[in-house]
Amino acid sequence: MTADAAADDRVDPVLAKVTGALEHAEERPGQHEMAITAARALSEGRHAVIQAGTGTGKSLAYLVPAAMLGRPVVVVTATKALQDQLARKDLPFVVEHSGLDFDFAVVKGRSNYVCRQRLDELASATQPALDLEGVSGPAFAQIGRLRDWADETTTGDIADLNWSPADATWRAASVSSDECPGASKCPRGHDCFAEMARRRAAEADITVVNMHLFGIDLASGGLLLPPHDAVVIDEAHLLEDVISDTAGVQIMPSQFRNAAAVVRRIVAEEQLVDALGNAAQLTHDALAGHVGERMQPGSDSLGWLADLRLVLDECLSVLAAIRADSEDVKQRRLRAQQVVGSLAVAIDVVHAAGDTDVVFVGGTPAAPRLVVAPLDVAPVLRARLWDQRAAVLTSATIPTGLPKRLGIDDTEIVDVGSPFDYEANGLLYCAAHLPDPRADGYRVQLHDELAALINAAGGRTLALFTSWKAMHAAADAVAQRVDVPVLTQGSLPKPLLLSTFAEDEPTCLFATVGLFSGVDVPGRTLSLVTVDRLPFARPDDPLLAARRDLVGARAFAEIDVPRAAMLLAQAAGRLIRNATDRGAVAVFDSRLATARYRWDIVRALPPMRRTRHRDEIEAFLSELTATS
Ligand code: SF4
Repeated sequence: MTADAAADDRVDPVLAKVTGALEHAEERPGQHEMAITAARALSEGRHAVIQAGTGTGKSLAYLVPAAMLGRPVVVVTATKALQDQLARKDLPFVVEHSGLDFDFAVVKGRSNYVCRQRLDELASATQPALDLEGVSGPAFAQIGRLRDWADETTTGDIADLNWSPADATWRAASVSSDECPGASKCPRGHDCFAEMARRRAAEADITVVNMHLFGIDLASGGLLLPPHDAVVIDEAHLLEDVISDTAGVQIMPSQFRNAAAVVRRIVAEEQLVDALGNAAQLTHDALAGHVGERMQPGSDSLGWLADLRLVLDECLSVLAAIRADSEDVKQRRLRAQQVVGSLAVAIDVVHAAGDTDVVFVGGTPAAPRLVVAPLDVAPVLRARLWDQRAAVLTSATIPTGLPKRLGIDDTEIVDVGSPFDYEANGLLYCAAHLPDPRADGYRVQLHDELAALINAAGGRTLALFTSWKAMHAAADAVAQRVDVPVLTQGSLPKPLLLSTFAEDEPTCLFATVGLFSGVDVPGRTLSLVTVDRLPFARPDDPLLAARRDLVGARAFAEIDVPRAAMLLAQAAGRLIRNATDRGAVAVFDSRLATARYRWDIVRALPPMRRTRHRDEIEAFLSELTATS
């Protein structure tokens, strides 16, 4: 029997058992193909990159082969929320219905777990010490509740709390990985929740982590996660950016403020705490005016880092000289040494940056950060991941060239499609008659066009914009010309914003790139998705600019077009969320109809019927409004 046939034989019946137990069980050929592709790659120690469109049921298509592998697998999700969804819903469902005998565990970053050592210290602290830490009044009462909870919970994970502690309370009752001295040096190391999660993972067949923690584990050479033979990476289109973040370092004013708070718990000299506070201000002042600029390591523009290094050295000597006459004092000192030492190391990394790194100022003028990121993540991933273990990467939108940019050589993208009938149920409209989005007069015509389509759709619109400025301008102009409510991103907390949009059918939601993904509103409520312009990255984005320099003349085709295509495909993917959904995607950027690269973008979108005629989309939307 061939390996392919063996994978078919083994996966098929188990997947059928699991999907057959779903409330709305249905045959999904793409899910079947994905499960077999994943099973073959995992069992043969190879890599597979699978594009699985909306509705494929990709979680079950990779969880079943992972559970059947019989060797430890790490499953990587984009966010902690998706991590919790797998752990609370999908994995228990597979356990219950597959007949497979396997264990799973969840590992999160240390600051997600309540720290028993901190709770002990807070319990014995004097009121002046608590005041200094911002733990007084209501926060102190919450610490008491957390202590009671710590006696009952088996996880210590903040996601398992049924109430929300204030930020100050949780900051006082948890520690970051930069702060924790490690279980072997901590009196509560034996029953530490973060350590228990890691021990559970060491015993489990499947460990679920979020992509950021996975990146930190790779950067640390595998210090956080237990040994594993294979990985499954969901939302793999995000991997390049996350590895860029985690393989480098960042220096932010808030880190010095945090260091000052941790040092204040142990050091009596106000001067030292003030020096760290001043370092935070100095960092802010040195960076705020340079957001978006690249910096040369060793240049005068980074001279201020040497002064900060002196402050940190001074701090480390004072901490080393403190006599620890109690366990509490010893622990506070250890944690302060960890935090200050990590900052000193980060400064050294900036100084040591070389040709394969990019140093730049990111963030915003209000919250700037100095970033060192690898110019190319492929060597990091090749050495630490692809050469070590089998990997299945999946996403609804895999940009062309992603495997190559990630360093996975000779791997084709397997596209298992989507079970939805986009041709019949969706219409893609390009407003080809509008002027170029960079031309005068574009904005006024965009607003006219958007108001007309919203009226034709009876509201029910997710209007997406590539900038906040464009979103607010459109909301101001359009809200007066439509008789349906218009919500804007930022006007309500995100969960409330999305639930208000989903529950009130005519309501429209105007939003920016942050909501190009993550909006899942099936049914009549979302019948029209609009995008103001093709979502190209800013030409002056410092990290992308450095990567463009590396690629040379092919940069636009290899970097910019695939990124824009992926973002637009994600935006379009908000429309059809189940088999009966119908609706239209309208793009107010004529380049989608005229530019030479247009087919690279169109091919990345769901295969909807296409039109350039406004009367056709208006008729389509009016018919939807009348019949639905
Ligand atoms: S090892 Fe100690 S300090 Fe670190 S998180 Fe656990 S209990 Fe807290």
